Amino acid sequence: MTSLADANGGYLTWDQLANLPLPDGTTQRLVDPGKGGIWNPRDFVATLSIITSPDGPYPDSEENGLLEYHYQRGPEGGKNLKLRAAIELRLPLLRLHKVAKGIYAPVFPVYVVGDNPITRQFTLSLDENIRLIEGGAGLSALEKAYAERMVQQRVHQPAFRARIMLAYDGACTVCTLKHPELLDAAHIIEDASELGDPVVPNGLSLCKIHHAAYDRNLLGISPDYEILINVALLHEVDGPMLKHGLQEMHQRRLHIPVRKADRPDPNRLQLRFERFESA
Ligand SMILES: [Zn+2]
Repeated sequence: MTSLADANGGYLTWDQLANLPLPDGTTQRLVDPGKGGIWNPRDFVATLSIITSPDGPYPDSEENGLLEYHYQRGPEGGKNLKLRAAIELRLPLLRLHKVAKGIYAPVFPVYVVGDNPITRQFTLSLDENIRLIEGGAGLSALEKAYAERMVQQRVHQPAFRARIMLAYDGACTVCTLKHPELLDAAHIIEDASELGDPVVPNGLSLCKIHHAAYDRNLLGISPDYEILINVALLHEVDGPMLKHGLQEMHQRRLHIPVRKADRPDPNRLQLRFERFESA
């Protein structure tokens, strides 16, 4: 599953999830054929996978690394029974976080750590050890910080990467290298600052070398999508990587996403470009 997702750029399509090839030549279905959010294969004692969706019919909320996941509607017990079994048996689940129509970023493992029949919600955790203590006692400040970093690393960053790879069709925006395993989802404005949110217009699909060059201001991108190479570097003499990989990119146009809403934001590019110019 991981290698398949890596080849795409960190995501799996519905079709891939419906027919995941196994090493023994057979396939395993990882999603509900009825398109439900919970998938309980008949020969599994507990739930195999759940889908989480930021725009789904249930407003699932995620705080402190804990996700409140609504019971599936339907007959009493029903699909929810095998989620309950996952708590008792302490079995991990596969979480499929929806990033676009038919596209999911896999998050594994996740654990069901709570069941609240009054609010009709399960509590899912990215770490088996992070759970609210019965009676509603909360997490310490240190646990909260750890939990938030975990959500960032295991849910938000992979979702950002998947959206960028989709928008750029798995190619470097500078050199068009089309190997997601060699590409990063780079931020134009770094995520700690204002305007640094993990949205596609604040991102660029860059191969490792162009990402590093962009971060070190050896390569700049103007607000009108022109690539520029640092003047000193432009006049250096060295081997083919410098010549073809960097110098020949000078004054080329960026390969931008087809969808207008996915294109890099000129305001953010401008802010970043000022740093390249003054470097
Ligand atoms: Zn590149």
